[in-house]
Amino acid sequence: MSQAIIPQYGIKRKSSSAPNSSFLGEKGVLGSVRWWIAGVLASLFVCIVFGLQTIPVVAMHKPPLAPAPTPTPFYPQEHLWLSSPVADDAPGARPDRFYAYASTGQGRYQVHHGVEFVNPLGTPVLAVGDGTVVTAGWDDEFVWGRALDYYGQLVVIQLAQSDAQMPVYVLYGHLSDVYVTVGQRVQHGEPVGAVGSTGVALGPHLHFEVRLGRNTFSHTTNPELWLVPQPGHGTIVGRILDARGQTVNMALVTFTPVERPGRYWREAWTYPGRLQATTRSDPAWQENVVMGDVPVGEYIVAVRIEGRLYARRVLVGDGQLVEITIQPPPALERPPGMERIPR
Ligand SMILES: [Zn+2]
Repeated sequence: MSQAIIPQYGIKRKSSSAPNSSFLGEKGVLGSVRWWIAGVLASLFVCIVFGLQTIPVVAMHKPPLAPAPTPTPFYPQEHLWLSSPVADDAPGARPDRFYAYASTGQGRYQVHHGVEFVNPLGTPVLAVGDGTVVTAGWDDEFVWGRALDYYGQLVVIQLAQSDAQMPVYVLYGHLSDVYVTVGQRVQHGEPVGAVGSTGVALGPHLHFEVRLGRNTFSHTTNPELWLVPQPGHGTIVGRILDARGQTVNMALVTFTPVERPGRYWREAWTYPGRLQATTRSDPAWQENVVMGDVPVGEYIVAVRIEGRLYARRVLVGDGQLVEITIQPPPALERPPGMERIPR
């Protein structure tokens, strides 16, 4: 009986003692073939009626899928694409050092989400790359910065080039005049407005931001990691970490040319932590301090970490972005509960 119910597989009854007539009513090889044909027809019927349901079965017989591609490793990429947003011969053609990105101007101001190009009123500001204008005009109806009326007249361009598949935006704030409208395509070097002091500004200057991923105040990165260094100069990008690998926040970092030791030449402050500010490290560099416009040469970078002074040498080449990490060696820690036995 058990043999009789699987005739579609062509299995012949193996025992003559089996009933001549099963509940299927057939017997012998001929019966098996008939039932095999009936089985195929029934399968076809099922396939036609429940066509969709058969797809997974068909798929089972496909050759196995190729293994999933390995994710592309994420390496730091130099994205020094941007030219200066003011002409090279303008008085403030390079970012102001005093109020650098993520600094507070030695405690005088709020944490900076961009850099300043200090120039006279009316100095043209230029598109730093090809792109499309996404914001143009006064910020009196929509908050583009900390609050309304913060950037005064501003322009935001979404650059044609993206970075690590993220859109890149550049923001020009405090403008006295705006020469472009939303939706307009602009080309590298094209004037988009003029330096002013609209919004929260103490005097005429250009506030310049780079926003990565989204056009919001909390998506800025350090513009000095994007601006092409001027000829004969480079940029130092640093990670200042404690022995446990945590970022050291708001620490003074000094830069001294090796050939002129004794007195430091420039200083910068490490970024505030993420709990203190919405400024960010660049995803490509994970930095917490940057020194731009460094003349080619060798420098000693020094910083005090947990009370001790640490220093490293760094060689800056023409047009280069050089990275440096300063981190004390891990301290020998006593296992918890273990006490030193007094002698
Ligand atoms: Zn600013």
